[in-house]
Amino acid sequence: MSSSVALRLPSIDGLLRHPACAPLAERYGRDSLLTGLRQLLDELRPGVLSGQLAAVEIGPEVLAGRVGERLAQQQRSQVRRVFNLTGTVLHTNLGRALLPEEAIEAVQMAARYPLNLEFDLASGKRGDRDDLIEGLIRELTGAEAVTVVNNNAAAVLLTLNSLGARKEGIISRGELIEIGGAFRIPDIMARAGVRLHEVGTTNRTHAKDYQAAIGPRSGLIMRVHASNYSIEGFTARVATAELAELAHAHGLPLLEDLGSGSLLDLTRWGLPAEPTVRQALLDGADIVTFSGDKLLGGPQAGLIVGRKELIAKIKKNPLKRALRVDKLTLAALEAVLGLYRDPDRLAERLPSLRLLTRPQAEIHAQALRLQPLLADVLGEVWQVSAVEALGMIGSGSQPVARLPSAALCCRPQVSKRWRGRYLLNLEAALRGLPIPVLGRIGDDALWLDLRQLDDEPAWLAQLPQLQVDR
Ligand SMILES: *Cc1c(COP(=O)(O)O)cnc(C)c1O
Repeated sequence: MSSSVALRLPSIDGLLRHPACAPLAERYGRDSLLTGLRQLLDELRPGVLSGQLAAVEIGPEVLAGRVGERLAQQQRSQVRRVFNLTGTVLHTNLGRALLPEEAIEAVQMAARYPLNLEFDLASGKRGDRDDLIEGLIRELTGAEAVTVVNNNAAAVLLTLNSLGARKEGIISRGELIEIGGAFRIPDIMARAGVRLHEVGTTNRTHAKDYQAAIGPRSGLIMRVHASNYSIEGFTARVATAELAELAHAHGLPLLEDLGSGSLLDLTRWGLPAEPTVRQALLDGADIVTFSGDKLLGGPQAGLIVGRKELIAKIKKNPLKRALRVDKLTLAALEAVLGLYRDPDRLAERLPSLRLLTRPQAEIHAQALRLQPLLADVLGEVWQVSAVEALGMIGSGSQPVARLPSAALCCRPQVSKRWRGRYLLNLEAALRGLPIPVLGRIGDDALWLDLRQLDDEPAWLAQLPQLQVDR
């Protein structure tokens, strides 16, 4: 307990002049240090007055140490790198695709120097930012024209509003999707000023359903890729080519929201088939929209490709200005698209494709290598095993397909009643590491899918810091 001699907190001025605080002032600035010290002293004052604090607890070195910790904590960036060991490769909450080195260099260049964002170097006149990537996208997709916006949700909104405002948009009931982050086709249509005209049923929609819906108020026909669910069993859907024919016979454009929209046939890398942008255009879709940071493996962006006169109309919409992409995105996108010119080397150079195509045997070998090290750190309570696991592409690509992978599976060796708590504690401890490690809990175990553990040295280096509460 406290002595009868009244303790006094050091003065702010005294602390600021104290050698223990000098490096902090140097590092964080005098103002931040002053604020930090004031807060700390205010918090300690009641304890001092009530005599609950000992003299050693309020010495200048101790106080400087505590303020230093807080300032370091405050200055730590809120945007943090993490290890994505969830098993979902294109994880929307974890930033989706990782950029290739070529794109990172392009972003740095664009960040550091002025550039010809909207300036035509050939003529010396004002240019259009879409021109920077139009040639490449035309070459890679066969589209006549292109425009790029902030993301695919923006692409869908802008396209619908440009081509269908105050008219009806005809769409199958089986395609009225909701994807994460409150993107729902009926709501987007309403916001775009397009009146929803749904046809067919959830599982079956026929050409005659579309046919019967076409009338004087029709503005467009829309098709949406079922990104995060699949309808199986007694189903029917009209092929894009047939739907395009029907739309064109009535002078209507056919829009196809591909979602992920791959530029190449992924089956050549043993991945599940995903519709390609080129094929959708060949089948007769007039406008195709897709994301930049899903299977394409680039920055967040929404690509709108298709017929020249429709793209021109879309570009004239004042909303385009509100939804446009910035120079960093364009620089990254151009670099990523450039890699598609050499499909043979794409899987080496594009991180998302490299990770998606990592062989299971290689991942399993890595799991076997890391298993004893993790087991050692976790101690006896945990059974750690290197097992086969199933991951996902993510971001609405192939919702049902699974990627054969391997994982470290951590099972607490405690009675059923305690398992949940142990698992949550382990999960929290992994999240608390300097580079947070994110896995997934399932089947009474915590799974660390290693498909995306590229930087093994960094992962191993922080392993000794893992402290799991019981
Ligand atoms: C992912 C997705 C979107 C939204 O794309 P963002 O780039 O995330 O805005 C829209 N439609 C479909 C079908 C999708 O899969």
